[in-house]
Amino acid sequence: MPHIIDGKAIRDYNLELMKKETAALNAQNIYPCLSVIIVGNDPASRVYVNNKKAACEKIGIISREYALPEETTTQELLNLIDELNADEKVSGILCQMPVPKHIDSTAVLNRILPEKDVDCFHPLNVGKLSAGNGTVMPCTPMGIIKLLEYEKIDPTGKTCVVIGRSNIVGKPMAVMMSQADATVTLCHSKTVDLPSVTRNADILISSVGKPKFVTADMVKEGAIVIDVGMNRDENNKLCGDVDFENVAPKTSYITPVPGGVGPMTITMLMRNTIEVAKEQAKL
Ligand code: NAP
Repeated sequence: MPHIIDGKAIRDYNLELMKKETAALNAQNIYPCLSVIIVGNDPASRVYVNNKKAACEKIGIISREYALPEETTTQELLNLIDELNADEKVSGILCQMPVPKHIDSTAVLNRILPEKDVDCFHPLNVGKLSAGNGTVMPCTPMGIIKLLEYEKIDPTGKTCVVIGRSNIVGKPMAVMMSQADATVTLCHSKTVDLPSVTRNADILISSVGKPKFVTADMVKEGAIVIDVGMNRDENNKLCGDVDFENVAPKTSYITPVPGGVGPMTITMLMRNTIEVAKEQAKL
């Protein structure tokens, strides 16, 4: 029987630790504060922002919201970021993506000071991650590292295959698994004979964005399978990339969707906010 990794329980465990850490920082007059900017009326973005605020509240991080109208210009958004960059009370800044099409999102992400960039999107932080000396970490891959740690799965010497090479998930995931001493292969849409590659994986991480993409014939007996996908199936039900029903019996550990990787992403945003607050206080 596979062990189904319980992302919600591991989220709660990590949030409880962070609540204690935040209280200890408050006792030293350090108040981690996350500023979240949302532009326009995208309903999905509104849900994400509300969830981020709720997580802050749960652990005692101060959250500030800046809701800007759809017609906000790039320059107006940059001006707000400049203000927040200069505000000593603000530890972390996040601009909820996607922003409306007329806004230059690269300029926006690059304007947030690297030391306040809690999403780890700034090129300097991406470089630091690559060099292995970053403070902030990309939230979804870091959440996966925390899931493995909690389950006492040591990647050392294991063969890890990551499917998907996006800047926010696949690419940093491959870097972090390599830093955790796994032997890593990073696959994408041009990979030839993907199943023959994935069948070698002790740890298989899928971040493709297609329902039932990972089928049982692609998975080695006893593998650890981590499903990052957040998709809708033919009945509009939330599902991952993995054909869970048929793949799970072959695995030793597997994450479900929902309730696996997803809950960890916002949790790691909280982690990054605490880490930047500590760094700004020179702790
Ligand atoms: P993305 O930017 O669309 O990247 C998808 C990747 O999959 C690309 O690198 C693409 O290859 C690769 N791919 C597509 N078809 C493939 C195929 N047939 N064989 C092998 N590789 C293939 O997606 P993303 O932003 O990384 O997100 C991936 C999934 O994770 C989505 O379902 C998303 O909703 C979910 N997600 C979940 C969380 C969470 O917190 N749980 C966070 C972020 C994302 P090319 O580069 O060659 O095009």
